[in-house]
Amino acid sequence: SANAEKHGFQAEVKQLLQLMIHSMYSNKEVFARELISNASDALDTLRFEGLKDDSLFEGDSELQIWIEQDKDNRTVTIGDNGVGMTRDQVMERIGTIAKSGTRAFLDSLSGDEKKDAKLIGQFGVGFYSAFIVADQVVVDTRRGGESTGVRWISDGGGEYTLEEIDKPQRGTTVTLHLREGEEEFTEPHRLRHLVKTYSDHIAFPIKMREQLSEEDENEGKEAGWEQVNRGAPLWAEPKSKLSDEDYAEFYKHTCNDFEDPLTWTHNKVEGSQEYTNLLYIPKRAPFDLFDPNGKQHGVKLYVQRVFIMDDAEKLMPRYLRFVKGVIDSNDLPLNVSRELLQNNRLLDKIRSGSVKKVLGLIESMAKDEDDPEKFKTFSNEFGTVLKEGVVEDYENQTRIAKLLRFKTTQDESADPGVSLDTYIERMAEGQDKIYYITADTLAEAKHSPHLEIFKKKNIEVLLLTDRVDEWVMAHMTEYEGKEFSSVAKGALDLGEAETEEEKEQQKKLEEESSNLVERIKEALGERVNEVRVTHRLTDSPACLVADEHGMSAHLERILKEAGQ
Ligand code: ADP
Ligand code: MG
Repeated sequence: SANAEKHGFQAEVKQLLQLMIHSMYSNKEVFARELISNASDALDTLRFEGLKDDSLFEGDSELQIWIEQDKDNRTVTIGDNGVGMTRDQVMERIGTIAKSGTRAFLDSLSGDEKKDAKLIGQFGVGFYSAFIVADQVVVDTRRGGESTGVRWISDGGGEYTLEEIDKPQRGTTVTLHLREGEEEFTEPHRLRHLVKTYSDHIAFPIKMREQLSEEDENEGKEAGWEQVNRGAPLWAEPKSKLSDEDYAEFYKHTCNDFEDPLTWTHNKVEGSQEYTNLLYIPKRAPFDLFDPNGKQHGVKLYVQRVFIMDDAEKLMPRYLRFVKGVIDSNDLPLNVSRELLQNNRLLDKIRSGSVKKVLGLIESMAKDEDDPEKFKTFSNEFGTVLKEGVVEDYENQTRIAKLLRFKTTQDESADPGVSLDTYIERMAEGQDKIYYITADTLAEAKHSPHLEIFKKKNIEVLLLTDRVDEWVMAHMTEYEGKEFSSVAKGALDLGEAETEEEKEQQKKLEEESSNLVERIKEALGERVNEVRVTHRLTDSPACLVADEHGMSAHLERILKEAGQ
């Protein structure tokens, strides 16, 4: 039309669209779930913003989603009377990908991985999933309170057009012009079934046309609307009424994941504080888990079933940023703001209660002997993040430390599998410390000359190669009464693990070598603090040792790299 303007997609969008269409085809019906979740999010947002600004409702507060099918024109339309978008918002939200690191993520995929729906799904398929089944998508939208609407049209090729439209009803409709061969989605039964399976627990009614009898149809009667889904928020229902499938579908809907969750915990807390939490642990870490600009929190806050905010960093500590789900409080005020949440006692209690539930959930996976793979998956995906908790959450330090798994000199398996409890159980006779070594790589750690004496004495040493390890070990001094000791720091004290005879020998050696030590000291001068005779080494002639309280060589290197 006359005022239509052409725009190019951001390069990443085009690339992602192509990948999506090719890799997701066998899961093509995900588009229904994605578009319905977007509609539901838009209704949540409207309800929240409407608390402050009643005029946004424009007198229409019966919030709903509807789906219409048109066989003749081969279209499916998903509509909502949610918050809608302004022109700028359309460009920003549908023409670009807001997530940082997208390019890096896409570039990091190899040819084969690009065909792997799971990897693409990990990114969150979202709105663009519409193009799996449609060769043209039309979005009509008007934000509440605005006088004009916008129409966005694209065939998923690389461009989209925008034009101003008249749109009396607030909200958004997304119309899919189905590709040839996708007619099945114009069948009422097919979509009803999809809504029932995937979107039963969306908190808003989802309406579809009534199915008329042949007689009514012949008489030319027009079909009315009927609600297809249950329409009650899942977390508010009693556990006994919910199946694993219910939980999994709700998860995929609310938490933007394409795979089933690894596990979850659902609790109704009563008493002085009333709240419900439904918290999930995903199967896979998001690609931006360690990206400081990435999405950092996955728990949504509701108050009395009303959505309040996403991404509320006060609901979960940073080290549990991979946890997703919902917390619904009965006691917080509905008009709660981010500022108010900053220092809110009620919220602090909800948070510490929820953290305990999550730790309990991880503990039960760790104990589950029937399904050890689950905890292994957890450790591989999230073990490194969990470690941050040792520093961040002092109150739960021991509980968290118990859940960590390590690689050690006595465990050759590819995945870290040794717990501190196991380590302590198999300590050598007379050993009273937990020994560890930090390094950049596993190979470097394994071949360190510092380990020689430990090998000889058959003492197990934790091999720490995560970036956070130095920082974590600086904060964790003991576990269950056993001190941690770096094999690369200070004087080596093997405690009781050393016999009297060995100690004698060491003393004698020190006396005999005092001349040599003096000469080496002179030669090295200011470059070292001290030169010592050691029994650390069995094969190498010499090694560098950090001062007991100083930085280790490894940390020194990390800081240097970081330009400090
Ligand atoms: P996500 O839902 O994870 O943010 P999507 O790709 O599904 O990603 O959607 C992108 C954005 O487009 C949404 O965040 C939202 O701002 C906007 N959007 C999509 N659908 C709607 C809708 N029906 N109403 C209002 N905004 C929408
Ligand atoms: Mg979405």
